[in-house]
Amino acid sequence: MTRIAIIGAGMAGVTLATLLKDKADIIVIEKSRGVSGRLAHRRAAPFGFDHGAAYMTIRDHGFADMLAPYQSSGLLQQWPQHPVRLRSGDKPEPLPPKPDSYAVSGTASALIKAMIADHLPDIDMRLATKAVQITRDSEAAKAANDDKVGWRIVTEDSSAPEDQSDIIADWVISTAPAPQTAALLPRSASFHQQLSDVETDGCFTLMLGFDTALNIGWDAAWGAHDQPLGFISDNRTKPERDQTRTALTIHAGNIWSSRHLTSNYDDVKARMIAALYTHTGINAATATHIGLQRWLYANPSRPLHGSEETPFVMDTSLRLAAAGDWCLGGRIENAYLSGSALARALLPLI
Ligand SMILES: Cc1cc2nc3c(=O)[nH]c(=O)nc-3n(C[C@H](O)[C@H](O)[C@H](O)COP(=O)(O)OP(=O)(O)OC[C@H]3O[C@@H](n4cnc5c(N)ncnc54)[C@H](O)[C@@H]3O)c2cc1C
Repeated sequence: MTRIAIIGAGMAGVTLATLLKDKADIIVIEKSRGVSGRLAHRRAAPFGFDHGAAYMTIRDHGFADMLAPYQSSGLLQQWPQHPVRLRSGDKPEPLPPKPDSYAVSGTASALIKAMIADHLPDIDMRLATKAVQITRDSEAAKAANDDKVGWRIVTEDSSAPEDQSDIIADWVISTAPAPQTAALLPRSASFHQQLSDVETDGCFTLMLGFDTALNIGWDAAWGAHDQPLGFISDNRTKPERDQTRTALTIHAGNIWSSRHLTSNYDDVKARMIAALYTHTGINAATATHIGLQRWLYANPSRPLHGSEETPFVMDTSLRLAAAGDWCLGGRIENAYLSGSALARALLPLI
């Protein structure tokens, strides 16, 4: 059986593994200790924050079919119900509810965990394993009994002895953000320049935990890409969350974040906290938890060029490929569309 190494256990990687598993021997390599990628949740007891994606749109029929069991079970529920747009010097303006937007019950990462439990219970998943280099492997080619290349994936696996951590595969698929994929995959890949042409914004995410439930009046608030407040979500208003405490996730605008990526963290925090007070009256001085996360590769501001028809890249002679939200635009649904399109293209080749 063809052995395929998939780098990344976010929506794109897990979709690929699910669709390819019956025809290939799959190994998933994930550098984090948990799955789910940027559909992420952070616990800072007693608070819980969805500190990556806050919600997902469900528009595509294939995505809707895949998620239907999770909508029926209540794992996915419509959210937000009371969205607003922030306005400088004025009250937030109510926006219509978003019927095609859903949040995950409990924690954002519960969706990918459920997908793995349902479709990939026996998958070879290497967590806390970072792929650091991919080189040609002549033994693998011999073992595959053909003259095509095989690949050796050199990893930093915190649990394996150094000489046992390399992984051999016939195909390597990366679902890491485009800049990380470009750094990892060999420059000989025919699509390498396309990876370098993708542009990605960062994001600063401020997490505020309050010991009481604040009466905010909205559940999600949109700001502006070039401002310290890009999007705010009140985690308490999502399904199956702690009702007694407010946990706010505040994403700075992507353009603002990219401009401040190398700024001092205390300065970034102070500017975001000041903007929060100005726009919403919420006083971070009463928060008992304040955390800041910097996402270096949050959102593809210029996705893969010309990817509407073919939202992935693939070199069939080298047996290298890549997929992810950066092929179409920074949304969970796009990560699914990219991963599933690549899986469909690969099935006849393996
Ligand atoms: C702050 C923020 C807010 C967002 N808000 C929304 C939103 O509200 N709605 C929405 O739809 N989308 C949102 N998004 C975008 C959404 O999270 C992504 O589009 C989606 O999760 C991307 O999935 P993916 O599988 O393509 O990539 P990822 O989820 O990034 O998965 C890639 C995986 O590869 C792993 N990896 C990378 N390099 C290596 C390596 N060398 N070795 C091993 N593993 C590696 C990473 O750890 C990661 O788990 C947001 C993103 C961020 C950062």
